[in-house]
Amino acid sequence: MNEAKITAGESPATQADLEAIARYSRRKLAAEEVYTFPLVLCDNDLDRDQECFTDEALEKLAVLFCGKTGIFDHDPRGEKQTARIYRCAVEEEPGRLNHRGEPYKALKAWAYMVRTAANADLILEIDGGIKKEVSVGCSVKSGTCSLCGANRKEQPCGHQPGKKYGGKLCYTLLKEPTDAYEWSFVAVPAQPAAGVTKSHLPRKALTLTPERALAEMERGELHLDALAALNLRKHIAALERQSEEAGRYRETLCECIRRRTMLAQPEMNPALLEKSMAPLTVSELEELAALMEKQVKKRFSPMVQTAPTGERESDNRAFCI
Ligand SMILES: [Zn+2]
Repeated sequence: MNEAKITAGESPATQADLEAIARYSRRKLAAEEVYTFPLVLCDNDLDRDQECFTDEALEKLAVLFCGKTGIFDHDPRGEKQTARIYRCAVEEEPGRLNHRGEPYKALKAWAYMVRTAANADLILEIDGGIKKEVSVGCSVKSGTCSLCGANRKEQPCGHQPGKKYGGKLCYTLLKEPTDAYEWSFVAVPAQPAAGVTKSHLPRKALTLTPERALAEMERGELHLDALAALNLRKHIAALERQSEEAGRYRETLCECIRRRTMLAQPEMNPALLEKSMAPLTVSELEELAALMEKQVKKRFSPMVQTAPTGERESDNRAFCI
């Protein structure tokens, strides 16, 4: 994910900043009343979920994120501080390339807070250059496979993000953002060994595949919005239907084996047959059904040996249940 490196040392808000802020505040604020800081919301590089925004998506998000409120989810007492974005811009970093070898671009935002006694400590923290992780929430219309172009949100293509196919990495391109909801800061522990905190992005849920949902559930990180939950429910319903159909097919196969066994090996104990069929897979049951069919034919063929070929066919058919 993206790390917001907040530059240490405060620079007072300029006149242009104050005018931009005035569009979102109830009254025009004076420079000494506000605290402003820049942050990076997202970029066109691959994130740890093997997803990246297209350049066009970043431009659209720059419009959508203006005026959006973010929270500092850092206070163990649960006191949430908020800040609001008053300006966004997509910035290219000269000389840096993203994973596709294209110029690296990031969506940079500037946010403000009204100075109060309650947020004085937080402002000191930000000024101290504490690195925080930013998580953004937005919805995108399509998340396409980098290999085949399929929109994963509509139909899974079978390619798995993060895997290589013929030397080419599969990832998901996030396109056409339709809405931006929120952004938040999560404090990253200062010790390097403490690792990186994982952010919970609503946008991930929107491009959620069943595989990822399971992986996130295992890590205790699954957060779903209504649409993603609906898609997941649909997927589970489809699986249940498939398994119901598979169950019916299995029952048909077992029935076929029971009848053929009765003909081929009448001495077979039915309970024993049930017990031996139970652990078999569907393809093993198919094999057994075919074997029983052969035995039925073998057992009854002497009876029809003298019959003309044509009749023999039809006689045998009676046993091919
Ligand atoms: Zn694909």
